[in-house]
Amino acid sequence: PQEQVEPDPTKKTLVVLGTGWGSVALLKKLDTENYNVIVISPRNFFLFTPLLPSCPTGTVEHRSIMEPFRHIIRHKKGTVKFYEADATKIDHERRVVIVSDNSDIKGDIHQTEVPFDYLVVGVGAENATFGIPGVKEHACFLKEIGDAQKIRKKVMDCIETAMFKDQTPGEKERLLHMVVVGGGPTGVEFAAELQDFFEDDLRKWVPDIADSFHVTLVEALPNVLPMFSKTLIEYTEKTLNEEKISLRTKTMVKKVTDKTIEAEVTMPDGSKQYQVLPYGCLVWATGNAVRPVVRDLMSQIPAQKNSRRGLAVNEYLVVDGTDGIWALGDCSATKYAPTAQVASQQGAFLARLFNNMAKTQNLEQELKHLEEIKAESKVQEDQEAIDKEIAKKSKAIRKVKTLSPFEYTHQGSLAYIGMERAVADISWWNGNVASGGSLTYLFWRSAYLSMCFSTRNRILVALDWMKVKIFGRDVSRY
Ligand code: FAD
Ligand code: NAD
Repeated sequence: PQEQVEPDPTKKTLVVLGTGWGSVALLKKLDTENYNVIVISPRNFFLFTPLLPSCPTGTVEHRSIMEPFRHIIRHKKGTVKFYEADATKIDHERRVVIVSDNSDIKGDIHQTEVPFDYLVVGVGAENATFGIPGVKEHACFLKEIGDAQKIRKKVMDCIETAMFKDQTPGEKERLLHMVVVGGGPTGVEFAAELQDFFEDDLRKWVPDIADSFHVTLVEALPNVLPMFSKTLIEYTEKTLNEEKISLRTKTMVKKVTDKTIEAEVTMPDGSKQYQVLPYGCLVWATGNAVRPVVRDLMSQIPAQKNSRRGLAVNEYLVVDGTDGIWALGDCSATKYAPTAQVASQQGAFLARLFNNMAKTQNLEQELKHLEEIKAESKVQEDQEAIDKEIAKKSKAIRKVKTLSPFEYTHQGSLAYIGMERAVADISWWNGNVASGGSLTYLFWRSAYLSMCFSTRNRILVALDWMKVKIFGRDVSRY
Protein backbone atom coordinates (compact mmCIF):
# COMPACT_ATOMS: atom_id res chain seq x y z
CA PRO A 1 0.00 0.00 0.00
CA GLN A 2 0.96 3.60 -0.60
CA GLU A 3 2.94 5.14 2.24
CA GLN A 4 1.10 8.02 3.95
CA VAL A 5 3.23 11.15 3.52
CA GLU A 6 1.96 14.61 4.41
CA PRO A 7 2.18 17.33 1.72
CA ASP A 8 5.54 19.11 1.68
CA PRO A 9 5.04 22.92 1.83
CA THR A 10 8.25 23.49 -0.17
CA LYS A 11 6.79 21.61 -3.17
CA LYS A 12 4.31 22.84 -5.74
CA THR A 13 0.77 21.43 -5.73
CA LEU A 14 -0.12 19.64 -8.95
CA VAL A 15 -3.85 18.96 -9.31
CA VAL A 16 -4.90 16.37 -11.91
CA LEU A 17 -8.54 16.11 -12.95
CA GLY A 18 -9.78 12.71 -14.14
CA THR A 19 -8.71 9.07 -13.92
CA GLY A 20 -9.05 8.22 -17.60
CA TRP A 21 -6.52 7.44 -20.31
CA GLY A 22 -4.76 10.82 -20.25
CA SER A 23 -4.50 11.40 -16.51
CA VAL A 24 -3.52 7.82 -15.68
CA ALA A 25 -0.78 7.79 -18.35
CA LEU A 26 0.56 10.99 -16.78
CA LEU A 27 0.49 9.58 -13.25
CA LYS A 28 2.15 6.33 -14.30
CA LYS A 29 5.28 8.11 -15.53
CA LEU A 30 5.29 11.12 -13.18
CA ASP A 31 8.00 11.34 -10.47
CA THR A 32 5.40 12.12 -7.83
CA GLU A 33 7.99 12.86 -5.14
CA ASN A 34 8.64 16.22 -6.83
CA TYR A 35 5.10 17.54 -6.27
CA ASN A 36 2.20 17.40 -3.85
CA VAL A 37 -0.13 15.57 -6.21
CA ILE A 38 -3.92 15.71 -5.85
CA VAL A 39 -6.14 13.67 -8.18
CA ILE A 40 -9.84 14.49 -8.44
CA SER A 41 -12.32 12.31 -10.31
CA PRO A 42 -15.85 11.00 -9.78
CA ARG A 43 -14.52 7.57 -10.80
CA ASN A 44 -12.12 5.81 -8.42
CA PHE A 45 -10.92 3.47 -11.15
CA PHE A 46 -9.42 3.46 -14.61
CA LEU A 47 -11.65 2.05 -17.37
CA PHE A 48 -10.20 0.21 -20.36
CA THR A 49 -12.69 1.64 -22.88
CA PRO A 50 -11.62 -0.42 -25.93
CA LEU A 51 -13.37 -3.46 -24.43
CA LEU A 52 -16.43 -1.56 -23.17
CA PRO A 53 -18.56 -2.52 -26.22
CA SER A 54 -18.13 -6.17 -25.11
CA CYS A 55 -19.64 -5.49 -21.65
CA PRO A 56 -23.36 -5.00 -22.33
CA THR A 57 -23.62 -8.50 -23.77
CA GLY A 58 -21.43 -10.09 -21.12
CA THR A 59 -18.62 -11.14 -23.48
CA VAL A 60 -16.41 -9.37 -20.96
CA GLU A 61 -17.52 -8.70 -17.38
CA HIS A 62 -17.28 -5.07 -16.32
CA ARG A 63 -14.91 -5.53 -13.38
CA SER A 64 -12.39 -7.22 -15.67
CA ILE A 65 -11.72 -3.91 -17.45
CA MET A 66 -11.67 -1.72 -14.35
CA GLU A 67 -8.47 -1.03 -12.41
CA PRO A 68 -8.90 0.55 -8.96
CA PHE A 69 -7.13 3.89 -8.83
CA ARG A 70 -5.63 2.99 -5.42
CA HIS A 71 -3.84 0.08 -7.14
CA ILE A 72 -2.42 2.45 -9.71
CA ILE A 73 -0.87 4.80 -7.16
CA ARG A 74 0.20 2.23 -4.60
CA HIS A 75 3.90 2.37 -5.46
CA LYS A 76 4.06 6.13 -5.95
CA LYS A 77 6.51 8.10 -3.83
CA GLY A 78 5.67 11.35 -2.03
CA THR A 79 2.11 12.53 -1.55
CA VAL A 80 -0.61 11.47 -3.97
CA LYS A 81 -4.06 12.24 -2.62
CA PHE A 82 -7.25 11.10 -4.33
CA TYR A 83 -10.65 12.77 -3.87
CA GLU A 84 -13.69 11.08 -5.40
CA ALA A 85 -15.53 14.16 -6.66
CA ASP A 86 -16.52 16.14 -9.72
CA ALA A 87 -14.65 19.33 -10.50
CA THR A 88 -17.62 21.66 -10.95
CA LYS A 89 -15.69 24.86 -11.64
CA ILE A 90 -12.11 25.80 -12.42
CA ASP A 91 -11.43 29.38 -11.31
CA HIS A 92 -8.27 30.07 -13.26
CA GLU A 93 -7.71 33.53 -11.80
CA ARG A 94 -7.98 32.46 -8.16
CA ARG A 95 -6.19 29.21 -9.05
CA VAL A 96 -8.69 26.94 -7.33
CA VAL A 97 -10.86 24.04 -8.42
CA ILE A 98 -14.31 23.79 -6.86
CA VAL A 99 -15.14 20.16 -6.21
CA SER A 100 -18.33 18.43 -5.26
CA ASP A 101 -19.03 14.92 -4.01
CA ASN A 102 -21.96 13.83 -6.14
CA SER A 103 -22.02 10.20 -4.99
CA ASP A 104 -24.98 8.78 -3.04
CA ILE A 105 -23.33 9.01 0.37
CA LYS A 106 -22.45 12.56 1.35
CA GLY A 107 -20.68 13.72 4.49
CA ASP A 108 -21.19 17.05 6.29
CA ILE A 109 -18.78 18.52 3.79
CA HIS A 110 -19.48 17.63 0.19
CA GLN A 111 -18.34 20.74 -1.61
CA THR A 112 -15.03 22.51 -1.20
CA GLU A 113 -12.13 24.22 -2.98
CA VAL A 114 -8.77 22.77 -3.94
CA PRO A 115 -6.03 25.33 -4.63
CA PHE A 116 -3.36 24.49 -7.22
CA ASP A 117 -0.02 25.75 -8.51
CA TYR A 118 -0.27 23.57 -11.60
CA LEU A 119 -3.42 22.02 -13.03
CA VAL A 120 -3.91 19.25 -15.60
CA VAL A 121 -7.41 18.95 -17.01
CA GLY A 122 -8.14 15.41 -18.21
CA VAL A 123 -11.91 15.17 -17.69
CA GLY A 124 -12.71 13.61 -21.08
CA ALA A 125 -15.91 14.40 -22.92
CA GLU A 126 -19.60 13.69 -22.56
CA ASN A 127 -21.96 12.09 -25.09
CA ALA A 128 -23.00 14.26 -28.00
CA THR A 129 -26.75 14.48 -28.48
CA PHE A 130 -26.75 17.63 -30.66
CA GLY A 131 -29.84 18.75 -28.74
CA ILE A 132 -31.94 16.18 -30.64
CA PRO A 133 -35.25 15.97 -28.76
CA GLY A 134 -35.81 12.81 -26.72
CA VAL A 135 -32.25 11.41 -26.89
CA LYS A 136 -31.29 12.24 -23.28
CA GLU A 137 -34.60 10.94 -21.96
CA HIS A 138 -34.94 7.69 -23.92
CA ALA A 139 -31.58 6.50 -25.28
CA CYS A 140 -28.83 4.50 -23.59
CA PHE A 141 -25.22 5.62 -24.07
CA LEU A 142 -21.99 3.64 -24.02
CA LYS A 143 -19.26 5.56 -22.23
CA GLU A 144 -19.16 4.35 -18.64
CA ILE A 145 -19.56 1.02 -16.86
CA GLY A 146 -23.03 2.06 -15.63
CA ASP A 147 -24.09 2.58 -19.26
CA ALA A 148 -23.06 -0.96 -20.18
CA GLN A 149 -24.99 -2.39 -17.22
CA LYS A 150 -28.06 -0.37 -18.16
CA ILE A 151 -27.99 -1.66 -21.75
CA ARG A 152 -27.57 -5.25 -20.59
CA LYS A 153 -30.62 -4.95 -18.35
CA LYS A 154 -32.69 -3.20 -20.98
CA VAL A 155 -31.96 -5.70 -23.77
CA MET A 156 -33.00 -8.61 -21.55
CA ASP A 157 -36.05 -6.67 -20.33
CA CYS A 158 -37.15 -6.09 -23.94
CA ILE A 159 -36.76 -9.80 -24.64
CA GLU A 160 -38.72 -10.95 -21.59
CA THR A 161 -41.43 -8.33 -22.23
CA ALA A 162 -41.71 -9.48 -25.83
CA MET A 163 -42.30 -13.00 -24.44
CA PHE A 164 -45.09 -11.81 -22.14
CA LYS A 165 -48.31 -13.79 -22.44
CA ASP A 166 -50.55 -12.59 -25.28
CA GLN A 167 -48.06 -9.91 -26.41
CA THR A 168 -49.26 -8.52 -29.76
CA PRO A 169 -47.10 -9.36 -32.81
CA GLY A 170 -46.53 -5.66 -33.57
CA GLU A 171 -45.38 -4.93 -30.05
CA LYS A 172 -43.15 -8.04 -30.09
CA GLU A 173 -41.50 -6.78 -33.30
CA ARG A 174 -40.91 -3.36 -31.75
CA LEU A 175 -39.51 -4.69 -28.46
CA LEU A 176 -37.07 -6.94 -30.30
CA HIS A 177 -35.81 -4.17 -32.57
CA MET A 178 -32.45 -2.98 -31.22
CA VAL A 179 -31.34 0.30 -32.78
CA VAL A 180 -27.79 1.67 -32.58
CA VAL A 181 -27.33 5.26 -33.78
CA GLY A 182 -23.81 6.27 -34.90
CA GLY A 183 -21.67 4.30 -37.32
CA GLY A 184 -18.36 5.27 -35.69
CA PRO A 185 -16.32 2.50 -34.04
CA THR A 186 -18.43 2.54 -30.83
CA GLY A 187 -21.68 1.96 -32.75
CA VAL A 188 -20.22 -0.65 -35.12
CA GLU A 189 -18.49 -2.64 -32.35
CA PHE A 190 -21.56 -2.64 -30.12
CA ALA A 191 -23.98 -3.59 -32.93
CA ALA A 192 -21.61 -6.46 -33.83
CA GLU A 193 -21.40 -7.66 -30.20
CA LEU A 194 -25.17 -7.56 -29.87
CA GLN A 195 -25.72 -9.58 -33.04
CA ASP A 196 -23.11 -12.13 -31.81
CA PHE A 197 -25.02 -12.39 -28.52
CA PHE A 198 -28.20 -13.14 -30.44
CA GLU A 199 -26.62 -15.69 -32.80
CA ASP A 200 -24.54 -17.49 -30.16
CA ASP A 201 -26.81 -17.47 -27.13
CA LEU A 202 -30.22 -15.77 -27.32
CA ARG A 203 -31.31 -17.81 -30.32
CA LYS A 204 -30.61 -20.96 -28.29
CA TRP A 205 -32.04 -19.93 -24.90
CA VAL A 206 -35.05 -17.93 -26.12
CA PRO A 207 -35.90 -19.64 -29.42
CA ASP A 208 -39.23 -17.79 -29.67
CA ILE A 209 -37.45 -14.56 -30.55
CA ALA A 210 -35.40 -16.09 -33.39
CA ASP A 211 -37.56 -14.64 -36.17
CA SER A 212 -38.04 -11.19 -34.69
CA PHE A 213 -34.81 -10.14 -32.95
CA HIS A 214 -33.20 -7.55 -35.16
CA VAL A 215 -30.29 -5.09 -34.93
CA THR A 216 -30.27 -1.87 -36.98
CA LEU A 217 -27.26 0.44 -37.25
CA VAL A 218 -28.11 4.01 -38.27
CA GLU A 219 -25.52 6.41 -39.68
CA ALA A 220 -25.98 9.92 -41.08
CA LEU A 221 -23.00 9.72 -43.47
CA PRO A 222 -22.83 7.54 -46.62
CA ASN A 223 -20.66 4.94 -44.83
CA VAL A 224 -19.55 3.63 -41.43
CA LEU A 225 -16.07 3.83 -39.84
CA PRO A 226 -14.83 6.92 -41.71
CA MET A 227 -11.34 6.64 -40.14
CA PHE A 228 -10.64 3.35 -41.95
CA SER A 229 -9.52 2.85 -45.55
CA LYS A 230 -12.09 2.38 -48.31
CA THR A 231 -11.40 -1.36 -48.62
CA LEU A 232 -11.94 -1.93 -44.93
CA ILE A 233 -15.13 0.14 -44.92
CA GLU A 234 -16.46 -2.02 -47.76
CA TYR A 235 -15.36 -5.19 -45.96
CA THR A 236 -17.07 -4.03 -42.75
CA GLU A 237 -20.33 -3.18 -44.53
CA LYS A 238 -20.28 -6.55 -46.32
CA THR A 239 -19.71 -8.36 -43.00
CA LEU A 240 -22.52 -6.44 -41.26
CA ASN A 241 -24.77 -7.44 -44.13
CA GLU A 242 -23.80 -11.12 -43.78
CA GLU A 243 -24.52 -10.90 -40.06
CA LYS A 244 -28.02 -9.60 -40.92
CA ILE A 245 -27.49 -6.29 -39.19
CA SER A 246 -29.59 -3.73 -41.09
CA LEU A 247 -27.30 -0.90 -42.03
CA ARG A 248 -29.07 2.38 -42.71
CA THR A 249 -26.60 4.95 -43.95
CA LYS A 250 -27.51 8.50 -45.05
CA THR A 251 -30.08 8.40 -42.26
CA MET A 252 -29.97 11.34 -39.89
CA VAL A 253 -31.96 10.89 -36.68
CA LYS A 254 -33.94 14.05 -35.89
CA LYS A 255 -36.18 13.02 -33.01
CA VAL A 256 -36.52 10.25 -30.47
CA THR A 257 -39.63 9.25 -28.53
CA ASP A 258 -40.00 6.46 -25.98
CA LYS A 259 -40.85 3.96 -28.72
CA THR A 260 -39.65 5.41 -32.03
CA ILE A 261 -36.84 7.21 -33.76
CA GLU A 262 -37.66 9.68 -36.51
CA ALA A 263 -35.06 10.16 -39.21
CA GLU A 264 -34.45 12.01 -42.44
CA VAL A 265 -33.25 9.58 -45.09
CA THR A 266 -31.44 10.68 -48.25
CA MET A 267 -32.74 8.49 -51.07
CA PRO A 268 -30.53 7.32 -54.00
CA ASP A 269 -32.02 10.07 -56.23
CA GLY A 270 -31.04 12.71 -53.64
CA SER A 271 -34.56 13.33 -52.39
CA LYS A 272 -35.28 13.31 -48.64
CA GLN A 273 -37.78 11.06 -46.90
CA TYR A 274 -38.93 11.26 -43.30
CA GLN A 275 -39.18 7.82 -41.69
CA VAL A 276 -40.34 6.58 -38.30
CA LEU A 277 -38.76 3.41 -36.88
CA PRO A 278 -40.18 1.71 -33.78
CA TYR A 279 -37.54 0.35 -31.37
CA GLY A 280 -37.29 -1.57 -28.10
CA CYS A 281 -33.78 -0.54 -27.02
CA LEU A 282 -31.88 2.43 -28.43
CA VAL A 283 -28.12 2.90 -28.02
CA TRP A 284 -26.83 6.36 -28.94
CA ALA A 285 -23.17 6.53 -30.03
CA THR A 286 -22.71 9.74 -32.01
CA GLY A 287 -19.40 10.89 -30.54
CA ASN A 288 -18.25 13.52 -28.08
CA ALA A 289 -19.43 16.85 -26.64
CA VAL A 290 -17.66 19.30 -24.31
CA ARG A 291 -18.28 18.81 -20.57
CA PRO A 292 -19.90 21.73 -18.66
CA VAL A 293 -16.83 22.28 -16.42
CA VAL A 294 -14.66 22.66 -19.53
CA ARG A 295 -17.19 24.91 -21.29
CA ASP A 296 -17.26 27.11 -18.20
CA LEU A 297 -13.45 27.38 -18.12
CA MET A 298 -13.42 28.23 -21.82
CA SER A 299 -15.95 31.00 -21.21
CA GLN A 300 -13.58 32.62 -18.65
CA ILE A 301 -10.69 32.88 -21.13
CA PRO A 302 -10.86 35.24 -24.14
CA ALA A 303 -8.23 33.16 -26.00
CA GLN A 304 -10.66 30.20 -26.02
CA LYS A 305 -13.40 32.19 -27.75
CA ASN A 306 -13.08 30.42 -31.11
CA SER A 307 -12.55 26.90 -29.84
CA ARG A 308 -15.56 24.59 -30.22
CA ARG A 309 -14.43 21.00 -29.60
CA GLY A 310 -12.70 21.64 -26.27
CA LEU A 311 -9.80 23.50 -24.66
CA ALA A 312 -7.43 24.94 -27.26
CA VAL A 313 -3.85 24.11 -26.25
CA ASN A 314 -0.39 24.96 -27.56
CA GLU A 315 2.22 22.41 -28.68
CA TYR A 316 3.18 21.77 -25.03
CA LEU A 317 -0.53 21.18 -24.15
CA VAL A 318 -0.71 24.44 -22.16
CA VAL A 319 -4.28 25.77 -22.28
CA ASP A 320 -4.25 28.89 -24.48
CA GLY A 321 -4.71 32.06 -22.43
CA THR A 322 -3.63 30.50 -19.11
CA ASP A 323 -0.49 30.02 -17.11
CA GLY A 324 0.16 26.72 -15.37
CA ILE A 325 -2.91 24.91 -16.74
CA TRP A 326 -2.56 22.01 -19.17
CA ALA A 327 -5.23 19.91 -20.90
CA LEU A 328 -5.06 16.50 -22.53
CA GLY A 329 -7.25 13.86 -24.11
CA ASP A 330 -10.88 14.25 -25.18
CA CYS A 331 -11.38 17.57 -23.34
CA SER A 332 -8.69 19.28 -25.44
CA ALA A 333 -9.06 20.43 -29.03
CA THR A 334 -6.08 19.39 -31.14
CA LYS A 335 -5.57 18.22 -34.68
CA TYR A 336 -5.78 14.61 -33.49
CA ALA A 337 -8.85 12.37 -33.13
CA PRO A 338 -10.23 11.95 -29.60
CA THR A 339 -8.79 8.51 -28.94
CA ALA A 340 -7.20 6.61 -26.06
CA GLN A 341 -3.98 6.41 -28.07
CA VAL A 342 -3.72 10.20 -28.29
CA ALA A 343 -4.72 10.78 -24.65
CA SER A 344 -2.18 8.28 -23.30
CA GLN A 345 0.67 9.65 -25.42
CA GLN A 346 -0.23 13.15 -24.23
CA GLY A 347 -0.21 11.90 -20.62
CA ALA A 348 3.25 10.38 -21.04
CA PHE A 349 4.44 13.65 -22.64
CA LEU A 350 3.15 15.73 -19.72
CA ALA A 351 4.86 13.39 -17.25
CA ARG A 352 8.18 14.08 -19.04
CA LEU A 353 7.41 17.80 -19.00
CA PHE A 354 6.68 17.86 -15.24
CA ASN A 355 9.67 15.64 -14.46
CA ASN A 356 11.87 18.02 -16.47
CA MET A 357 10.39 21.08 -14.77
CA ALA A 358 11.19 19.61 -11.36
CA LYS A 359 14.72 18.64 -12.45
CA THR A 360 15.29 22.17 -13.78
CA GLN A 361 14.07 23.72 -10.54
CA ASN A 362 16.36 21.46 -8.47
CA LEU A 363 19.34 22.23 -10.70
CA GLU A 364 18.62 25.95 -10.55
CA GLN A 365 18.53 25.82 -6.77
CA GLU A 366 21.83 23.95 -6.71
CA LEU A 367 23.28 26.54 -9.09
CA LYS A 368 22.14 29.39 -6.84
CA HIS A 369 23.68 27.64 -3.85
CA LEU A 370 27.00 27.19 -5.73
CA GLU A 371 27.03 30.87 -6.67
CA GLU A 372 26.52 31.81 -3.01
CA ILE A 373 29.42 29.56 -1.94
CA LYS A 374 31.58 31.02 -4.68
CA ALA A 375 30.82 34.57 -3.52
CA GLU A 376 31.87 33.66 0.02
CA SER A 377 35.00 31.72 -1.00
CA LYS A 378 38.37 33.53 -0.90
CA VAL A 379 40.54 30.68 -2.22
CA GLN A 380 41.30 30.85 -5.94
CA GLU A 381 41.47 27.03 -6.33
CA ASP A 382 38.07 26.57 -4.68
CA GLN A 383 36.57 29.19 -6.94
CA GLU A 384 37.91 27.43 -10.02
CA ALA A 385 36.44 24.11 -8.86
CA ILE A 386 33.10 25.81 -8.19
CA ASP A 387 33.19 27.44 -11.66
CA LYS A 388 33.61 24.01 -13.23
CA GLU A 389 30.65 22.71 -11.23
CA ILE A 390 28.57 25.76 -12.23
CA ALA A 391 29.34 25.16 -15.93
CA LYS A 392 28.31 21.51 -15.55
CA LYS A 393 25.02 22.44 -13.87
CA SER A 394 24.26 25.15 -16.45
CA LYS A 395 24.81 22.62 -19.24
CA ALA A 396 22.53 20.12 -17.50
CA ILE A 397 19.84 22.80 -17.15
CA ARG A 398 20.04 23.66 -20.85
CA LYS A 399 19.72 19.96 -21.67
CA VAL A 400 16.62 19.29 -19.55
CA LYS A 401 15.01 22.51 -20.68
CA THR A 402 15.06 21.44 -24.32
CA LEU A 403 11.92 19.31 -24.39
CA SER A 404 10.48 19.10 -27.89
CA PRO A 405 6.78 19.81 -28.38
CA PHE A 406 4.22 17.01 -28.24
CA GLU A 407 4.08 14.84 -31.30
CA TYR A 408 1.66 12.00 -31.80
CA THR A 409 2.71 8.67 -33.28
CA HIS A 410 -0.23 6.83 -34.76
CA GLN A 411 0.05 3.07 -34.22
CA GLY A 412 -3.09 2.22 -36.17
CA SER A 413 -6.81 1.64 -35.80
CA LEU A 414 -8.56 -1.58 -34.84
CA ALA A 415 -12.23 -2.45 -34.60
CA TYR A 416 -14.28 -5.58 -33.94
CA ILE A 417 -17.00 -6.09 -36.55
CA GLY A 418 -18.69 -9.34 -35.40
CA MET A 419 -18.63 -13.04 -36.36
CA GLU A 420 -15.08 -13.27 -34.96
CA ARG A 421 -13.78 -10.78 -37.51
CA ALA A 422 -11.99 -7.48 -37.02
CA VAL A 423 -10.53 -4.72 -39.19
CA ALA A 424 -7.10 -3.17 -38.71
CA ASP A 425 -5.29 -0.25 -40.31
CA ILE A 426 -1.83 -0.56 -38.82
CA SER A 427 1.19 1.72 -39.30
CA TRP A 428 4.07 -0.58 -40.17
CA TRP A 429 7.57 0.76 -40.86
CA ASN A 430 6.83 3.70 -43.11
CA GLY A 431 3.68 2.29 -44.63
CA ASN A 432 0.23 1.09 -43.73
CA VAL A 433 -1.13 -2.43 -43.51
CA ALA A 434 -4.88 -2.83 -43.93
CA SER A 435 -6.42 -6.16 -43.04
CA GLY A 436 -9.78 -7.63 -42.14
CA GLY A 437 -11.02 -11.08 -41.15
CA SER A 438 -10.50 -13.87 -38.66
CA LEU A 439 -6.72 -13.55 -38.40
CA THR A 440 -7.15 -9.84 -37.76
CA TYR A 441 -9.62 -10.83 -35.04
CA LEU A 442 -6.92 -12.91 -33.33
CA PHE A 443 -4.56 -9.96 -33.68
CA TRP A 444 -7.28 -7.65 -32.25
CA ARG A 445 -7.72 -9.94 -29.26
CA SER A 446 -4.02 -10.26 -28.53
CA ALA A 447 -3.42 -6.52 -29.03
CA TYR A 448 -6.21 -5.56 -26.62
CA LEU A 449 -5.13 -8.18 -24.13
CA SER A 450 -1.60 -6.82 -24.14
CA MET A 451 -2.89 -3.25 -23.78
CA CYS A 452 -4.99 -4.03 -20.69
CA PHE A 453 -3.89 -1.99 -17.71
CA SER A 454 -2.58 -4.76 -15.46
CA THR A 455 -1.81 -8.48 -15.42
CA ARG A 456 -4.89 -8.86 -13.25
CA ASN A 457 -7.07 -7.26 -15.98
CA ARG A 458 -5.38 -9.38 -18.64
CA ILE A 459 -6.12 -12.62 -16.78
CA LEU A 460 -9.72 -11.62 -16.01
CA VAL A 461 -10.44 -10.69 -19.65
CA ALA A 462 -8.85 -13.93 -20.94
CA LEU A 463 -10.93 -15.93 -18.42
CA ASP A 464 -14.11 -14.11 -19.52
CA TRP A 465 -13.41 -15.02 -23.15
CA MET A 466 -12.81 -18.63 -22.17
CA LYS A 467 -15.95 -18.72 -20.02
CA VAL A 468 -18.07 -17.45 -22.94
CA LYS A 469 -16.55 -20.08 -25.25
CA ILE A 470 -17.38 -22.86 -22.81
CA PHE A 471 -20.71 -21.80 -21.23
CA GLY A 472 -21.98 -19.07 -23.54
CA ARG A 473 -23.12 -15.67 -22.27
CA ASP A 474 -25.44 -15.30 -19.31
CA VAL A 475 -29.02 -14.39 -20.27
CA SER A 476 -30.29 -13.48 -16.79
CA ARG A 477 -31.70 -10.01 -16.41
CA TYR A 478 -29.93 -8.40 -13.51
P1 FAD B 1 -11.51 9.55 -20.26
O1 FAD B 1 -10.74 8.29 -20.43
O2 FAD B 1 -12.94 9.58 -20.65
O3 FAD B 1 -11.38 9.98 -18.74
C1 FAD B 1 -12.00 11.12 -18.21
C2 FAD B 1 -11.90 11.05 -16.71
O4 FAD B 1 -12.37 12.28 -16.15
C3 FAD B 1 -12.75 9.95 -16.10
O5 FAD B 1 -12.06 9.37 -15.04
C4 FAD B 1 -13.96 10.70 -15.59
O6 FAD B 1 -14.59 10.05 -14.52
C5 FAD B 1 -13.31 12.00 -15.13
N1 FAD B 1 -14.22 13.15 -15.03
C6 FAD B 1 -15.35 13.39 -15.73
N2 FAD B 1 -15.89 14.55 -15.33
C7 FAD B 1 -15.09 15.06 -14.38
C8 FAD B 1 -15.12 16.23 -13.59
N3 FAD B 1 -16.10 17.13 -13.68
N4 FAD B 1 -14.13 16.41 -12.70
C9 FAD B 1 -13.13 15.51 -12.57
N5 FAD B 1 -13.05 14.40 -13.29
C10 FAD B 1 -14.01 14.17 -14.19
N6 FAD B 1 -9.93 4.90 -28.25
C11 FAD B 1 -8.95 4.18 -28.83
O7 FAD B 1 -7.88 4.72 -29.10
N7 FAD B 1 -9.13 2.86 -29.10
C12 FAD B 1 -10.26 2.20 -28.82
O8 FAD B 1 -10.41 1.01 -29.09
C13 FAD B 1 -11.31 2.94 -28.17
N8 FAD B 1 -12.48 2.34 -27.87
C14 FAD B 1 -13.47 3.06 -27.27
C15 FAD B 1 -14.67 2.43 -26.95
C16 FAD B 1 -15.70 3.14 -26.34
C17 FAD B 1 -16.99 2.44 -26.01
C18 FAD B 1 -15.52 4.51 -26.04
C19 FAD B 1 -16.62 5.29 -25.37
C20 FAD B 1 -14.34 5.15 -26.37
C21 FAD B 1 -13.31 4.44 -26.98
N9 FAD B 1 -12.10 5.04 -27.34
C22 FAD B 1 -11.10 4.31 -27.91
C23 FAD B 1 -11.89 6.46 -27.06
C24 FAD B 1 -11.16 6.64 -25.72
O9 FAD B 1 -11.82 5.93 -24.70
C25 FAD B 1 -11.08 8.11 -25.33
O10 FAD B 1 -10.51 8.85 -26.38
C26 FAD B 1 -10.25 8.24 -24.07
O11 FAD B 1 -10.94 7.66 -23.00
C27 FAD B 1 -9.94 9.69 -23.76
O12 FAD B 1 -9.18 9.75 -22.61
P2 FAD B 1 -9.36 10.94 -21.57
O13 FAD B 1 -8.37 10.72 -20.48
O14 FAD B 1 -9.36 12.23 -22.27
O15 FAD B 1 -10.84 10.76 -21.02
P1 NAD C 1 -17.63 9.00 -33.76
O1 NAD C 1 -17.63 10.47 -33.62
O2 NAD C 1 -16.43 8.33 -34.26
O3 NAD C 1 -18.86 8.56 -34.69
C1 NAD C 1 -20.16 9.04 -34.49
C2 NAD C 1 -20.98 8.80 -35.74
O4 NAD C 1 -22.32 9.18 -35.48
C3 NAD C 1 -20.50 9.64 -36.94
O5 NAD C 1 -20.17 8.78 -38.00
C4 NAD C 1 -21.68 10.55 -37.24
O6 NAD C 1 -21.86 10.77 -38.61
C5 NAD C 1 -22.85 9.77 -36.66
N1 NAD C 1 -23.99 10.63 -36.29
C6 NAD C 1 -23.95 11.81 -35.62
N2 NAD C 1 -25.20 12.31 -35.46
C7 NAD C 1 -26.05 11.43 -36.02
C8 NAD C 1 -27.45 11.39 -36.17
N3 NAD C 1 -28.25 12.35 -35.69
N4 NAD C 1 -28.02 10.35 -36.82
C9 NAD C 1 -27.24 9.35 -37.32
N5 NAD C 1 -25.88 9.33 -37.21
C10 NAD C 1 -25.29 10.36 -36.56
O7 NAD C 1 -18.06 8.44 -32.30
P2 NAD C 1 -17.62 7.13 -31.52
O8 NAD C 1 -17.77 5.92 -32.34
O9 NAD C 1 -18.33 7.19 -30.22
O10 NAD C 1 -16.07 7.37 -31.25
C11 NAD C 1 -15.61 8.46 -30.46
C12 NAD C 1 -14.09 8.48 -30.48
O11 NAD C 1 -13.59 7.30 -29.84
C13 NAD C 1 -13.51 8.47 -31.90
O12 NAD C 1 -12.37 9.26 -31.94
C14 NAD C 1 -13.15 7.03 -32.12
O13 NAD C 1 -12.05 6.87 -33.00
C15 NAD C 1 -12.79 6.55 -30.73
N6 NAD C 1 -13.10 5.12 -30.63
C16 NAD C 1 -12.21 4.25 -31.19
C17 NAD C 1 -12.50 2.90 -31.17
C18 NAD C 1 -11.53 1.93 -31.80
O14 NAD C 1 -10.45 2.33 -32.19
N7 NAD C 1 -11.87 0.66 -31.91
C19 NAD C 1 -13.68 2.42 -30.59
C20 NAD C 1 -14.57 3.34 -30.06
C21 NAD C 1 -14.27 4.70 -30.11
